[in-house]
Amino acid sequence: MSQYFDPRYASLEAYVPGEQPRDRAYIKLNTNESPYPPAPSVCKALEGGVIEDLRLYSDPACRRLKEKLAAHYHVDTDQVFLTNGSDDILNFAFMAYGHLGAAFADITYGFYSVFAALHGVDATIIPLKEDFTLDYLDYLGLNKLIVIANPNAPTGIPISFNRIEQIVKANPEGVVVVDEAYVDFGAFSCYSLIDKYDNLLVTRTYSKSRSMAGARLGYAFGSKKIIEDLEKLRYSTNPYNVNSMTLKLGEATIDEDDYYMENCRQIMLTRYDTMQALRELGFDVLPSNANFLFAKSPTIGGGALYAKLRENGILVRHFNKPRISDYLRITIGTKEQMETFISAIKQIHQEVDT
Ligand SMILES: *Cc1c(COP(=O)(O)O)cnc(C)c1O
Repeated sequence: MSQYFDPRYASLEAYVPGEQPRDRAYIKLNTNESPYPPAPSVCKALEGGVIEDLRLYSDPACRRLKEKLAAHYHVDTDQVFLTNGSDDILNFAFMAYGHLGAAFADITYGFYSVFAALHGVDATIIPLKEDFTLDYLDYLGLNKLIVIANPNAPTGIPISFNRIEQIVKANPEGVVVVDEAYVDFGAFSCYSLIDKYDNLLVTRTYSKSRSMAGARLGYAFGSKKIIEDLEKLRYSTNPYNVNSMTLKLGEATIDEDDYYMENCRQIMLTRYDTMQALRELGFDVLPSNANFLFAKSPTIGGGALYAKLRENGILVRHFNKPRISDYLRITIGTKEQMETFISAIKQIHQEVDT
């Protein structure tokens, strides 16, 4: 750190992304990417002039993609917000609505506490229950910025539409952000509530179910006024935050919804088989509605099992944090990848037992 760095940021602990190593080929089950490529037509979407047009700035209003998303989800275009990955939306939300303080769970997406610290937001951390479910009663009447991932990460546990509505209704003075990064893998979206409540912001991403983590595209649904706030911040930082290639890819993706929904269906089937196989081996596996499982070995600690899997060419995510240090978050890959994963798990447990 230099002597010039603003002391406000000196003690900031940055978010630690999952590793993306290049030293060898790994089976990557550590950052919840899709194991499937984008649809064939999406892979061709940059043909026909998009690259040549890179000399021009991208459309700061992102009009075509906004219109397509609005039509697809039956909302108005001024209820849609677009960013360079959905982490950007969360950043803007903490910037815009954090002055009243923020509340989120102890076990949830690690970026929430980073954004709170970055913007000097006073954070209330609410512990999940013993079984890692969220008690919605803890979130009533807080009247702060509330951030809830549905389904939650890294647990995969969803929260019902009714409970989300109770929380939104009971916090009229604060904005409730529902992070739906994994909603396509079996949770129920609450975005239809944006017409009824002015204080709801629903964030989504192309990174998981849309096989586009590397292109960086996030979107959000909210009331017209909420979107106006966020647009003000976006135009005050980087109006060209979504590049023109990503805009094109995003538009093409919407036309291929069936392809992506079929991929999600396959991932949910593979998730079930993987969960059964792990439970047969004595693992504690949380019920997941996301494209990952959160699981604990009966005999090997989380850090040790992570290291053993890595030696075997398989990457998973381990969080060295209170309550969850014995768990691993395992992204659901292809059927074949998960069979290889289960074989490695069996072999590692045999070695430890003998
Ligand atoms: C992956 C993820 C995101 C954001 O991902 P982007 O790639 O920035 O769109 C947001 N929230 C949760 C809970 C996630 O797991």
